[in-house]
Amino acid sequence: MKKLIDEITLQNRISEMACEIDSYYLSQDFYRNTQEPVIIIGVLTGSIFFMADLVRKLSIKTKLDFIRTSVYPGKSTKPKKPKIIWTPNTPLNDANILIVDDILDTGITFKLAKEQLNIDYPSHIKTATLLRKKGKSNSNINCDFVGFDIEDKFVVGYGLDYDGKYRELPYVAIWG
Ligand code: 5GP
Ligand code: MG
Repeated sequence: MKKLIDEITLQNRISEMACEIDSYYLSQDFYRNTQEPVIIIGVLTGSIFFMADLVRKLSIKTKLDFIRTSVYPGKSTKPKKPKIIWTPNTPLNDANILIVDDILDTGITFKLAKEQLNIDYPSHIKTATLLRKKGKSNSNINCDFVGFDIEDKFVVGYGLDYDGKYRELPYVAIWG
């Protein structure tokens, strides 16, 4: 396994992302006028470490919840037909939502999560991903906050798994 992004580089970039996210919300009337917490929705399970580190670096008010999708079940490294298998409990009507995921590949996960969350008529939905595979994501799937653009290789660590393993690594590595 080859280390791709070390722990210090990850943490430095996540601090920068937290500043970018703070600046965005602090510049928005909808946040400034209401001071309503931004609902941070992590995509389980891969986002947990990124989400935990990111939210502790944010200055804006937040509430935390989760959504679970299944895209890479079992030992597969190839996408299967995704579905939503867990939805947030937090009331989302009129809420400002930030969906947080570990990696943006084809964009199917963000698309599906947005469709699901839109059912409850939130006010705004923004997205943040730690990693984005270069050239892979569908051009009409935008992501508002991106940590690193990486090559199109299967990666593990810092929440990302292969067959449930390697999530606990403090760095991101190319699997294999
Ligand atoms: P997308 O739906 O954008 O194609 O893929 C996003 C989801 O697929 C991520 O949340 C992640 O769970 C999984 N995924 C995509 N690429 C990788 C990868 O390189 N490694 C791992 N471990 N998971 C990936
Ligand atoms: Mg995922």
